[in-house]
Amino acid sequence: MASEVNVRVGREISEADRKSIDRNKMAVLHPLPPDSKVEGQAFQHLAVQCPHCGAIGYAWIDPELYNSVYCSWCGGYFWA
Ligand SMILES: [Zn+2]
Repeated sequence: MASEVNVRVGREISEADRKSIDRNKMAVLHPLPPDSKVEGQAFQHLAVQCPHCGAIGYAWIDPELYNSVYCSWCGGYFWA
């Protein structure tokens, strides 16, 4: 399945890791495309796929890091 969008595929978070994650600091995977790109900022709106339900959405994350993400479709947590 070819796509022009570079999608970052999420990785499941283990039960142990999940307990240590601050829910308030998680990025949220949501269906809206980015409003705009802001140059010079570490965080970007990136296309991300949830490893639990396969939904592809956007999350405001740091592309240099693995970020903890909450899926707004299935409620799953994952790294992206
Ligand atoms: Zn999901």
